[in-house]
Amino acid sequence: MVTDIAARNGSSVRYLPHWVQQVPRRHTKDKAPEQIGKEKATLIMLVRNRELNDALKSMRAMEDRFNRKFRYPWTFLNDEPFTQDFINYTTGMASGNTYYGLINKDQWSIPHHIDQDKVKANMETMVSKNVIYAGSMSYRHMCRYNSGFFYRHPLLANFQWYWRVEPGVDYFCDIDYDVFEYMRVHDKVYGFVMAMYEYLVTIETLWDSTKEFIKKHPQYLASDNSLDFFVDNHPPTKSGEKEITGNYNLCHFWSNFEIASLDFWRSQAYQDYFSYLDSEGGFFYERWGDAPIHSLAVGLFLPKTKIHHFGDIGYRHPPYSRCPQDVESHQSGRCFCSRRDHFDDDGYSCLPRWWNVAGQSVGAGIKLD
Ligand code: GDP
Ligand code: MN
Repeated sequence: MVTDIAARNGSSVRYLPHWVQQVPRRHTKDKAPEQIGKEKATLIMLVRNRELNDALKSMRAMEDRFNRKFRYPWTFLNDEPFTQDFINYTTGMASGNTYYGLINKDQWSIPHHIDQDKVKANMETMVSKNVIYAGSMSYRHMCRYNSGFFYRHPLLANFQWYWRVEPGVDYFCDIDYDVFEYMRVHDKVYGFVMAMYEYLVTIETLWDSTKEFIKKHPQYLASDNSLDFFVDNHPPTKSGEKEITGNYNLCHFWSNFEIASLDFWRSQAYQDYFSYLDSEGGFFYERWGDAPIHSLAVGLFLPKTKIHHFGDIGYRHPPYSRCPQDVESHQSGRCFCSRRDHFDDDGYSCLPRWWNVAGQSVGAGIKLD
């Protein structure tokens, strides 16, 4: 059987480009399943072979709650070739097509301009402070990849939208509408469910680098931006304002869940921002995460109306979960999650700040007593 990619290229599996792995015959159907949803969208999972079981758990929930109604394809990315088992089991779990991509080594290695001795010394300091993932080089590659490269993977070239899925997560509510269509029709670019504070030690110079970037490229600062989400008591940015001021409060959207436009990351503004950050070296000298970087970019380069909080989606990524709070979501049987075990108004949640910036969406809200 030829893959869709191969079919599109009119070639057989043998001539697939090096970054595509074979898509196997499905176990129960001869033909590739037809997509029902009308958007150019894919579910994306960056994942390791050893995470197969957790990947299947996430897929099962995603398929049951959302995707079996739409059959959007899954795209799996890995810095190592996927095992045949990984391919077989995940393809078996998917209601739509599956694609398996290899990450280009250049995008998963330390660039030449980085001083490796400095990286090592800084890593040791962070380890001694017990910072999570402080000693992990692969975690740094992962954060850099999710910041600057995933959207350039050739397997994603024909897609406009994605939903990021991680192994080991759970979705608690039926999602009966097409979230990608929702994004398009409502002119949204970035969707999230949880927001929280970043560890300062992992991004000590990110805010300064971001301010410096905006100074160099003031045209990228949107006039109706979300600065007041990132800087406490920030006055509204005036049109034509050239600089950002104040201290970063560390708030960011938790990026293990994202429903977003690939075109935003492909924009000149974002590509310039990523290149600037990459030249600063903070992915390695510190441990910059893709979550604050994505958040600052959408928050500064876009009007706040383009960012959507999916208050109707119940979600768990250990150790946190959130559950829609409105009665209807529960009385209808749409959601099954504990309304009291809920992150939105936790002391560590930045969502109340977002409510001040953008208002509350349906299903978002405070814990019930
Ligand atoms: P956390 O959510 O910040 O604790 O980090 P995770 O361990 O969940 O990693 C984030 C995402 O990147 C998950 O989808 C992981 O499966 C994936 N990931 C992390 N490290 C690697 C890696 O070295 N290789 C690959 N292929 N995926 C990785
Ligand atoms: Mn994770």
